[in-house]
Amino acid sequence: MKLYNSLTRSVVPFEPWTPGEVSMYTCGPTVYNYAHIGNLRTYIHEDVLEKTLEFLGYTVHRVMNITDVGHLESDADEGEDKMLLSARKERKTVWEVAQYYTDAFFEDCGKLNIRKPEVLAKATDYIEDYIEFIRGLEEKGYTYFANGNVYFDISKFEDYTRLSKMDLDTLKIAHREDVDEDAHKKNPQDFVLWFTKSKFGKQAMKWDSPWGVGYPGWHIECSVIALKTLGERLDIHCGGVDHIPIHHTNEIAQTESYTGKKWTKYWWHSEFLIDHTGKMSKSSGEFLTVSLLESKGFDPLSYRYYVLNSHYRKQLAFSFESLEMAERAFEKLKGKTAPFTSIPTEGVELSKKGSDLLEAFKGHLADDLNTPNAMTVLYDVLKSEIKDEEKAVLLDKMDQVLSLGLLDAVEKSNTGVSEDEAAYIEEMITMRSTAKKEKNWAVADAIRYELKEKGVELIDTPEGTTWKK
Ligand SMILES: [Zn+2]
Repeated sequence: MKLYNSLTRSVVPFEPWTPGEVSMYTCGPTVYNYAHIGNLRTYIHEDVLEKTLEFLGYTVHRVMNITDVGHLESDADEGEDKMLLSARKERKTVWEVAQYYTDAFFEDCGKLNIRKPEVLAKATDYIEDYIEFIRGLEEKGYTYFANGNVYFDISKFEDYTRLSKMDLDTLKIAHREDVDEDAHKKNPQDFVLWFTKSKFGKQAMKWDSPWGVGYPGWHIECSVIALKTLGERLDIHCGGVDHIPIHHTNEIAQTESYTGKKWTKYWWHSEFLIDHTGKMSKSSGEFLTVSLLESKGFDPLSYRYYVLNSHYRKQLAFSFESLEMAERAFEKLKGKTAPFTSIPTEGVELSKKGSDLLEAFKGHLADDLNTPNAMTVLYDVLKSEIKDEEKAVLLDKMDQVLSLGLLDAVEKSNTGVSEDEAAYIEEMITMRSTAKKEKNWAVADAIRYELKEKGVELIDTPEGTTWKK
């Protein structure tokens, strides 16, 4: 496996700290709003990364944090408590808001076939650990206290710009007019580890600490959660490219200052989804979410297909036209894979040609996760002259990584019953709904029971009753 490492800015062989085992940390969502499909693009690629590593034989331990502490959006203490804002708007408590959007995030992930990481860590569950971590940094002399807040002093950490390669002197000159500089910082890049005093006083979530009642800074959660769950040495740390200059840079500084050891071997970053103006896509004022795509008639998996057709390190210019083209191609592909869903694959041995195709697929993924090239092998399989059983095996294996539901698209309609049986079930459903209308509950229940005995489950929806075997 070769991966691009943002630290060295080159594609390098992947060699985890412990051979065969991979620890993988992913910066998770902030949960005061729905997830933007641009962020979901990153989660799709991370999902492919995890599944690729497994496909290549590694055991992967993956952790994702959930940023459920209200204000933690930016380091600049820029403002309103986002969680509180949502809570007021939606007449919920901040905790309810966090739970609501956490659920919504995983619902979106489910629709995109993104697997839940092994460990999900809520930021608010680690408050004591942040405090202990900050005390550790304090003892080692990396912090200072000013105006009620605890800061990390970046001048105490050698190599602060290791990941970002920023020129701090240039940054000093290019001081942004629109950002209110915090006068209490010793260096402009210093960041707050613990707030007791924010410019914006109304924080909904606060905790007691040695420095007073307050709340943790933004970056600390990822460092602490990663240390607590995956130990002092991390193989892969993932996130969007926007995290490089500040968030991940600060994570490295505080974590390595705390442990005194080199921390993350590979920094993995996914590029932006942009619109035609080149900015993070908010397409003509619309906030792009999975639900919005669905409301426009798109299958969320078409978006996954669309995303996999571009390399994670390239910006992807989103438009509904291009998504529509992708959807059409995806439907065509599913039409081609559909006949293979019912082919038994047990005990099928791959021919030379079949193994070559599988190796080609692996090779593309092992080459810095080249999903566009890996996808072309899908088509090569379908075009090739190998036996149908082999094709079914290969499609199944490949879809374990791509997760496009290529072989279950038909399983859903392939109900596993004969036409006669299906007609019988439909007839029973009609009888049952008549019985229900007549309030003849005994008959309605008897029909449900009889079908259940035959392994058929009835599902009542507002649009009527459906069934599954
Ligand atoms: Zn993070």
